[in-house]
Amino acid sequence: MPQIIDGKQISAQIKDEVKEKVASLKEQGTTVCLAVIQVGADPASSVYVGNKKKACAYVGIESLSYELPEQTSQEELLSLIDELNNKPEVNGILVQLPLPSHIDEDAVIQAIDPKKDVDGFHPQSVGALCIGQPGFVSCTPAGIIELLKRSGVEIAGKECVVIGRSNIVGKPMAILLLRENGTVTVTHSKTRDLKEVTRRADILVVAIGKPKMITRDYVKEGAVVIDVGIHRNENNKLCGDVDYEDVAPVCSAITPVPGGVGPMTIAMLMYNCVRSIELQ
Ligand code: NDP
Repeated sequence: MPQIIDGKQISAQIKDEVKEKVASLKEQGTTVCLAVIQVGADPASSVYVGNKKKACAYVGIESLSYELPEQTSQEELLSLIDELNNKPEVNGILVQLPLPSHIDEDAVIQAIDPKKDVDGFHPQSVGALCIGQPGFVSCTPAGIIELLKRSGVEIAGKECVVIGRSNIVGKPMAILLLRENGTVTVTHSKTRDLKEVTRRADILVVAIGKPKMITRDYVKEGAVVIDVGIHRNENNKLCGDVDYEDVAPVCSAITPVPGGVGPMTIAMLMYNCVRSIELQ
């Protein structure tokens, strides 16, 4: 049986470490504060925002909540971000995505002060990551590195294959694996003979957004498989991009869905909020 990489347990550990750090900062007179902005009332976004606020309360980070109506204009949103950029007591700013279609997401991301960009989506954060300078790292890929390290998976020298090249998962994931001295290949929808490439992987990170697409014929015997996907199936049960039942018997370690990568994203957001104090 493979090692089940327990994201619930590892994320709880990280949140407890953050909680300790927040308490010790408080003793020195420094509080940590995250501003969370949601535009519209998309139910999935409301759940994510609620979970982020809950995590803040658990670790002792103050959270300011801005719930703006769907029809908020881009100018109004940018002006709120500008106001928060200039508030010294606000350390992190998070705008819940996706935004309504009349708002340009790139313009909003770029308006956030890079020193408060706890999601790590600002071009300056991405650039800093690429050239190895200090900055915020996108929470999901940063969480995957923590999962691997804390589960005793060695990255250096390993063949790492990432499926997916999105700005928030695939690309930063590839750069982080490279930073850990993995030999990295990034694949996408135009990759020829995907199975041939993924079967070379010692570490396979799957971020495709296609339920259960990855079956055992994509996976080398003994590989470590990280499943980033989150979907609800016809029975309202969560599943990932990996066909877990099919793949688990052939790999050495695997993340389940739920309970794998998912809980790490919020834990790393909490970590980034504390890091904002150092970066500021
Ligand atoms: P995107 O849709 O932005 O990107 C998907 C990527 O997969 C694209 O690069 C696309 O290639 C590639 N792809 C699509 N089909 C294929 C195929 N048949 N073969 C090879 N590559 C393919 O998704 P995200 O990166 O945002 O998210 C991926 C998954 O992770 C989703 O299920 C999402 O819900 C989940 N997710 C989970 C998070 C968590 O906290 N656990 C956080 C973020 C995302 P191309 O570029 O050529 O189109």
